[in-house]
Amino acid sequence: MLEIKNIDAFYGKTQALYDVSIRVNQAEIVALIGSNGAGKTTTLNAISGLLRPASGSIEFLGEKITGRKTFSIVEKGICHIPEGRRPFADMSVRENLEMGAYLPRVWKNREKALEQIFAVFPVLEKKQNLLARALSGGEQQMLVMGRGMMSNPKLCMIDEPSSGLAPILIAEIFRIVQTLRDQGMTILLIEQNVRHSLEIADRGYVIENGRVVLEGKGKDLLGDDMVKKAYLGL
Ligand code: ATP
Repeated sequence: MLEIKNIDAFYGKTQALYDVSIRVNQAEIVALIGSNGAGKTTTLNAISGLLRPASGSIEFLGEKITGRKTFSIVEKGICHIPEGRRPFADMSVRENLEMGAYLPRVWKNREKALEQIFAVFPVLEKKQNLLARALSGGEQQMLVMGRGMMSNPKLCMIDEPSSGLAPILIAEIFRIVQTLRDQGMTILLIEQNVRHSLEIADRGYVIENGRVVLEGKGKDLLGDDMVKKAYLGL
């Protein structure tokens, strides 16, 4: 579905990605793991067109999207849920979700999209008329995920969804990510919670200092000595 080949990316003169190649197949969860500043968010930014790679290519559904404008990448079916969950605080939950349906082809079907989102996130249905600012941190994370899903994406990139949440909510967010995959969604996931993300990931990539240093099945990476030592504290 998504094929990143040999991309280099820079912020000004500083190189952030070196020859990064990543593949995501349909209905997979692919985890990107690595320490702070490794280049995970930069990789997502390159895919969604927020940062233009200096070299290499990115193909989505067989079409080159490298260097395209973000809106045309969203239109092709990629959604990017950035870290930091920022719903529109003074809009209702329902209005926030509707903001995710601004593409003309999606707007027509927004009621159906809402129904699907409410089936995955029942709490959003219950609280649809409340202002987003009244939601807990976990509910706000669900809201920004739901808002992204409203565009009916084929690939969803989620950056640090569990960051700052209590353990019970972290488990709930991971359960939802799995449910989305089981329903056929393809997910590229960044998580500091390495154990949990590799447990649910079909495959994963370890990024260090802007380079992919290891890739494999989620379960195999969990058993890898380097991963155990560097990311699992074992
Ligand atoms: P984190 O979990 O801390 O976000 P990350 O793996 O997502 O880590 P990136 O945010 O992709 O890392 O950062 C990769 C490198 O690029 C880091 O050295 C970072 O300092 C640098 N960087 C990120 N954003 C910018 C920016 N807007 N301008 C300049 N340098 C940046």
